[in-house]
Amino acid sequence: MSEMIREDGRKYNELRPIKIEAGVLERADGSAYLEVGGNKILVAVYGPRESYIRRLLEPNTGVIRCRYNMAPFSVDDRKRPGPDRRSSEISKITADALRPALMLENYPRSMVDVYIEVIEAEGGTRCAGITAASVALVDAGVPMKDIVVGCAAGKVNDEVVLDLSEVEDKEGQADVPIAMMPRTGEITLLQSDGDLSEEEFQKAIDLAMEGCKKVSELQKEALMKRYSTE
Ligand code: UDP
Repeated sequence: MSEMIREDGRKYNELRPIKIEAGVLERADGSAYLEVGGNKILVAVYGPRESYIRRLLEPNTGVIRCRYNMAPFSVDDRKRPGPDRRSSEISKITADALRPALMLENYPRSMVDVYIEVIEAEGGTRCAGITAASVALVDAGVPMKDIVVGCAAGKVNDEVVLDLSEVEDKEGQADVPIAMMPRTGEITLLQSDGDLSEEEFQKAIDLAMEGCKKVSELQKEALMKRYSTE
Protein backbone atom coordinates (compact mmCIF):
# COMPACT_ATOMS: atom_id res chain seq x y z
CA MET A 1 0.00 0.00 0.00
CA SER A 2 0.96 3.60 -0.51
CA GLU A 3 3.50 5.53 1.52
CA MET A 4 1.70 8.76 0.72
CA ILE A 5 1.48 11.13 3.66
CA ARG A 6 -1.80 13.02 3.93
CA GLU A 7 -2.27 16.77 4.41
CA ASP A 8 -2.47 16.32 8.20
CA GLY A 9 0.48 13.93 8.32
CA ARG A 10 -1.49 10.69 8.65
CA LYS A 11 -0.80 7.41 6.88
CA TYR A 12 -3.49 5.98 4.59
CA ASN A 13 -4.83 3.70 7.34
CA GLU A 14 -4.53 6.06 10.28
CA LEU A 15 -7.47 7.44 12.24
CA ARG A 16 -7.56 10.95 13.62
CA PRO A 17 -7.04 11.16 17.42
CA ILE A 18 -10.18 10.03 19.25
CA LYS A 19 -11.49 10.68 22.74
CA ILE A 20 -14.71 9.13 24.05
CA GLU A 21 -16.36 9.72 27.41
CA ALA A 22 -19.53 7.99 28.64
CA GLY A 23 -22.04 9.47 31.10
CA VAL A 24 -21.34 13.19 30.78
CA LEU A 25 -24.87 14.55 31.34
CA GLU A 26 -26.84 14.44 34.59
CA ARG A 27 -30.41 14.48 33.36
CA ALA A 28 -30.29 12.15 30.38
CA ASP A 29 -30.73 8.39 30.91
CA GLY A 30 -27.51 7.90 28.97
CA SER A 31 -24.96 10.19 27.37
CA ALA A 32 -21.60 10.36 25.67
CA TYR A 33 -19.10 12.93 24.44
CA LEU A 34 -16.81 12.18 21.53
CA GLU A 35 -13.98 14.00 19.81
CA VAL A 36 -12.42 12.76 16.62
CA GLY A 37 -10.03 15.14 14.91
CA GLY A 38 -11.81 18.49 15.03
CA ASN A 39 -15.27 17.01 15.63
CA LYS A 40 -16.91 17.53 19.01
CA ILE A 41 -20.15 15.65 19.51
CA LEU A 42 -22.50 15.32 22.46
CA VAL A 43 -25.22 12.65 22.63
CA ALA A 44 -28.13 12.32 25.05
CA VAL A 45 -30.38 9.26 25.19
CA TYR A 46 -33.80 9.03 26.84
CA GLY A 47 -35.76 5.82 27.16
CA PRO A 48 -37.08 3.31 26.53
CA ARG A 49 -40.04 5.37 27.74
CA GLU A 50 -43.63 6.04 26.93
CA SER A 51 -43.90 8.79 24.38
CA TYR A 52 -46.34 11.64 24.16
CA ILE A 53 -46.25 11.24 20.37
CA ARG A 54 -48.68 8.34 20.34
CA ARG A 55 -48.89 7.99 16.57
CA LEU A 56 -45.20 6.98 16.48
CA LEU A 57 -45.63 4.10 18.91
CA GLU A 58 -45.91 0.48 17.74
CA PRO A 59 -48.02 -2.14 19.54
CA ASN A 60 -45.46 -4.95 19.18
CA THR A 61 -42.09 -3.25 19.47
CA GLY A 62 -40.24 -0.23 20.77
CA VAL A 63 -39.09 2.42 18.31
CA ILE A 64 -35.93 4.48 18.07
CA ARG A 65 -35.95 8.10 17.02
CA CYS A 66 -32.76 10.06 16.31
CA ARG A 67 -32.18 13.74 15.91
CA TYR A 68 -28.85 14.82 14.40
CA ASN A 69 -28.27 18.54 14.74
CA MET A 70 -25.34 20.78 13.88
CA ALA A 71 -24.92 23.86 16.05
CA PRO A 72 -24.89 27.14 14.09
CA PHE A 73 -21.33 27.76 15.35
CA SER A 74 -20.07 24.25 14.52
CA VAL A 75 -18.64 25.21 11.13
CA ASP A 76 -16.80 28.26 9.74
CA ASP A 77 -19.75 29.45 7.66
CA ARG A 78 -22.59 29.79 10.16
CA LYS A 79 -24.91 26.80 9.79
CA ARG A 80 -28.51 27.97 9.49
CA PRO A 81 -30.26 26.72 12.64
CA GLY A 82 -32.94 24.06 12.40
CA PRO A 83 -33.43 20.91 10.38
CA ASP A 84 -32.51 20.73 6.71
CA ARG A 85 -32.33 17.97 4.11
CA ARG A 86 -28.88 16.85 5.22
CA SER A 87 -29.68 16.64 8.94
CA SER A 88 -32.98 14.84 8.24
CA GLU A 89 -31.11 12.30 6.13
CA ILE A 90 -28.42 11.79 8.78
CA SER A 91 -31.07 11.46 11.53
CA LYS A 92 -32.78 8.73 9.51
CA ILE A 93 -29.66 6.76 8.58
CA THR A 94 -28.44 6.98 12.19
CA ALA A 95 -31.64 5.38 13.48
CA ASP A 96 -31.37 2.75 10.73
CA ALA A 97 -27.73 2.05 11.67
CA LEU A 98 -28.47 1.65 15.39
CA ARG A 99 -31.82 -0.19 15.23
CA PRO A 100 -30.45 -3.68 14.35
CA ALA A 101 -28.44 -3.73 17.59
CA LEU A 102 -31.35 -2.81 19.85
CA MET A 103 -33.66 -5.42 21.35
CA LEU A 104 -36.68 -3.17 20.99
CA GLU A 105 -39.11 -6.07 20.69
CA ASN A 106 -38.94 -6.25 24.50
CA TYR A 107 -40.33 -2.70 24.78
CA PRO A 108 -43.66 -2.47 22.95
CA ARG A 109 -45.28 0.96 22.87
CA SER A 110 -42.03 2.59 23.99
CA MET A 111 -39.63 5.05 22.45
CA VAL A 112 -35.89 5.51 22.63
CA ASP A 113 -34.86 9.10 21.80
CA VAL A 114 -31.31 9.80 20.68
CA TYR A 115 -30.21 13.44 20.44
CA ILE A 116 -26.93 14.04 18.60
CA GLU A 117 -25.55 17.55 18.87
CA VAL A 118 -22.55 18.43 16.70
CA ILE A 119 -20.79 21.22 18.56
CA GLU A 120 -17.86 21.41 16.15
CA ALA A 121 -17.69 19.68 12.78
CA GLU A 122 -14.64 18.65 10.82
CA GLY A 123 -15.70 15.86 8.47
CA GLY A 124 -17.16 12.47 9.31
CA THR A 125 -19.79 13.65 11.75
CA ARG A 126 -22.40 11.04 10.80
CA CYS A 127 -20.06 8.17 11.71
CA ALA A 128 -18.85 9.94 14.85
CA GLY A 129 -22.48 10.56 15.83
CA ILE A 130 -23.34 6.87 15.46
CA THR A 131 -20.27 5.84 17.48
CA ALA A 132 -21.13 8.27 20.29
CA ALA A 133 -24.86 7.40 20.20
CA SER A 134 -24.10 3.74 20.68
CA VAL A 135 -22.01 4.48 23.78
CA ALA A 136 -24.82 6.67 25.14
CA LEU A 137 -27.35 3.87 24.51
CA VAL A 138 -25.24 1.44 26.53
CA ASP A 139 -24.90 4.11 29.23
CA ALA A 140 -28.71 4.41 29.28
CA GLY A 141 -28.94 0.67 29.91
CA VAL A 142 -30.81 -0.05 26.68
CA PRO A 143 -30.37 -3.79 25.98
CA MET A 144 -28.22 -4.26 22.88
CA LYS A 145 -26.79 -7.16 20.92
CA ASP A 146 -23.65 -5.20 20.09
CA ILE A 147 -22.17 -1.69 20.25
CA VAL A 148 -22.56 -0.21 16.79
CA VAL A 149 -19.56 1.75 15.55
CA GLY A 150 -19.11 4.06 12.58
CA CYS A 151 -16.10 4.99 10.47
CA ALA A 152 -15.55 6.23 6.93
CA ALA A 153 -12.97 5.59 4.25
CA GLY A 154 -12.67 7.41 0.96
CA LYS A 155 -10.53 8.33 -1.99
CA VAL A 156 -8.15 11.27 -1.94
CA ASN A 157 -5.45 11.96 -4.56
CA ASP A 158 -6.30 8.59 -6.17
CA GLU A 159 -5.59 6.72 -2.92
CA VAL A 160 -8.06 4.89 -0.71
CA VAL A 161 -7.64 6.33 2.80
CA LEU A 162 -9.24 5.97 6.23
CA ASP A 163 -11.31 8.56 8.16
CA LEU A 164 -11.49 11.62 5.90
CA SER A 165 -10.99 15.05 7.43
CA GLU A 166 -13.17 17.93 6.26
CA VAL A 167 -10.53 19.08 3.76
CA GLU A 168 -10.17 15.55 2.41
CA ASP A 169 -13.94 15.18 2.25
CA LYS A 170 -14.27 18.40 0.25
CA GLU A 171 -11.24 17.95 -2.02
CA GLY A 172 -11.34 14.16 -2.26
CA GLN A 173 -12.93 11.99 -4.93
CA ALA A 174 -15.13 9.76 -2.76
CA ASP A 175 -16.40 9.14 0.77
CA VAL A 176 -17.73 5.79 2.04
CA PRO A 177 -19.17 6.02 5.56
CA ILE A 178 -20.09 2.72 7.18
CA ALA A 179 -21.41 1.50 10.51
CA MET A 180 -21.18 -2.06 11.75
CA MET A 181 -21.73 -4.44 14.64
CA PRO A 182 -18.14 -5.52 15.30
CA ARG A 183 -18.98 -8.85 16.96
CA THR A 184 -20.76 -10.28 13.91
CA GLY A 185 -19.31 -8.00 11.24
CA GLU A 186 -22.83 -7.05 10.14
CA ILE A 187 -22.86 -3.73 8.32
CA THR A 188 -25.75 -1.47 9.37
CA LEU A 189 -24.88 1.59 7.29
CA LEU A 190 -23.22 1.83 3.92
CA GLN A 191 -23.23 5.02 1.91
CA SER A 192 -21.05 6.03 -0.98
CA ASP A 193 -20.55 9.46 -2.43
CA GLY A 194 -18.20 10.00 -5.39
CA ASP A 195 -16.50 7.82 -7.95
CA LEU A 196 -14.79 4.54 -7.07
CA SER A 197 -13.92 1.48 -9.13
CA GLU A 198 -15.26 -1.83 -7.85
CA GLU A 199 -11.81 -2.65 -6.47
CA GLU A 200 -11.47 0.73 -4.74
CA PHE A 201 -14.96 0.39 -3.28
CA GLN A 202 -14.07 -2.98 -1.76
CA LYS A 203 -10.79 -1.54 -0.46
CA ALA A 204 -12.66 1.37 1.12
CA ILE A 205 -15.10 -0.98 2.88
CA ASP A 206 -12.26 -3.19 4.17
CA LEU A 207 -10.36 -0.15 5.44
CA ALA A 208 -13.47 1.37 7.06
CA MET A 209 -14.20 -1.96 8.78
CA GLU A 210 -10.64 -2.03 10.13
CA GLY A 211 -11.16 1.52 11.40
CA CYS A 212 -14.46 0.50 13.02
CA LYS A 213 -12.75 -2.28 14.92
CA LYS A 214 -10.16 0.15 16.33
CA VAL A 215 -12.83 2.66 17.35
CA SER A 216 -14.86 -0.15 18.89
CA GLU A 217 -12.04 -0.79 21.38
CA LEU A 218 -12.16 2.87 22.43
CA GLN A 219 -15.94 2.68 22.94
CA LYS A 220 -15.46 -0.29 25.25
CA GLU A 221 -12.64 1.48 27.13
CA ALA A 222 -14.86 4.54 27.68
CA LEU A 223 -17.65 2.35 29.08
CA MET A 224 -15.26 0.38 31.29
CA LYS A 225 -13.90 3.65 32.65
CA ARG A 226 -17.39 4.95 33.35
CA TYR A 227 -18.47 1.87 35.26
CA SER A 228 -15.22 1.00 37.03
CA THR A 229 -15.05 4.34 38.86
CA GLU A 230 -18.63 4.37 40.15
N1 UDP B 1 -20.15 20.88 6.70
C1 UDP B 1 -20.20 22.25 6.71
N2 UDP B 1 -21.44 22.86 6.65
C2 UDP B 1 -22.61 22.15 6.57
C3 UDP B 1 -22.53 20.76 6.55
C4 UDP B 1 -21.28 20.15 6.62
O1 UDP B 1 -19.17 22.92 6.79
O2 UDP B 1 -23.70 22.75 6.53
C5 UDP B 1 -18.82 20.24 6.82
C6 UDP B 1 -18.66 19.54 8.18
O3 UDP B 1 -17.32 19.68 8.63
C7 UDP B 1 -18.94 18.11 7.84
C8 UDP B 1 -18.30 18.02 6.46
O4 UDP B 1 -18.67 19.24 5.84
O5 UDP B 1 -18.37 17.23 8.77
C9 UDP B 1 -18.74 16.84 5.63
O6 UDP B 1 -20.13 16.81 5.55
P1 UDP B 1 -20.91 15.52 5.04
O7 UDP B 1 -22.26 15.99 4.57
O8 UDP B 1 -20.06 14.74 4.10
O9 UDP B 1 -21.17 14.67 6.36
P2 UDP B 1 -20.16 14.04 7.41
O10 UDP B 1 -18.86 13.74 6.71
O11 UDP B 1 -20.00 15.07 8.49
O12 UDP B 1 -20.83 12.82 7.90
